[in-house]
Amino acid sequence: MRERIFGYEKLSFARELAAAFAHEIRNPLTVAKGFVQLLRETPIHEEKQNAYLSLIEEDLAHAEQIINDYLVYARPELASVEEIEVTAELRHVSDLMYSYGVGHGVNVTVFLHCQETYIIGDRGKLYQALINIMKNGIEAMSEGGTLTVRLSRLNKQLAIAIQDQGVGMTDEEVKRLGIPFYSNKANGTGLGMMVSYSIIEMMKGQVHVMSEKGVGTVFTILFPIAREG
Ligand code: ADP
Ligand code: MG
Repeated sequence: MRERIFGYEKLSFARELAAAFAHEIRNPLTVAKGFVQLLRETPIHEEKQNAYLSLIEEDLAHAEQIINDYLVYARPELASVEEIEVTAELRHVSDLMYSYGVGHGVNVTVFLHCQETYIIGDRGKLYQALINIMKNGIEAMSEGGTLTVRLSRLNKQLAIAIQDQGVGMTDEEVKRLGIPFYSNKANGTGLGMMVSYSIIEMMKGQVHVMSEKGVGTVFTILFPIAREG
């Protein structure tokens, strides 16, 4: 999925990554520092003081989230390994995403074309991987639409397809998915796909992306089936 990189290219990739990471972390820290200075220098009303403290907390949480996401990529490991019953999990994740969809004028529908099926992995991480992909699908449909989630069996594998009717991507854009800090959004971190791809890889899964500009995108995630029923 991710291309292999050798020699000089590898070094320059590492440098770019370090620079992007530093930049992303510095932004919220600079803002938080600004608020700390304001709190120190000016006599301010208690209400405003609390508002500043909340903003500082938010910025620090944002910086922490970037570090946590980055660590999934830098040090990929599954916190717990267990059997996961995927039909129940997909229902649960789709319920979670339903309200996010409503806020964006997007309907989330789920089709489960198979019986109880188990895969091996980390339940919490699987959630994170699916949510990042579903969120992107919803965010790609600024005019609204439907996000369709399908679960089916494909030989010895389980296929989770997540389809949107959004802006779509060119082949070049699809290739960039998963590169840390690659984002086309004003408030994007560009870490979502990197986190999802790392998690799916850790769980021995594969991702296939089909996309067409102006039509939409389908992410198909394949996992080896551990057992059925
Ligand atoms: P972020 O969402 O913070 O921008 P991601 O890593 O989740 O970061 O996604 C990277 C970029 O890939 C997005 O900014 C977007 O341009 C593109 N992308 C991801 N998923 C989709 C999708 N379903 N449809 C169109 N573009 C997408
Ligand atoms: Mg995203």
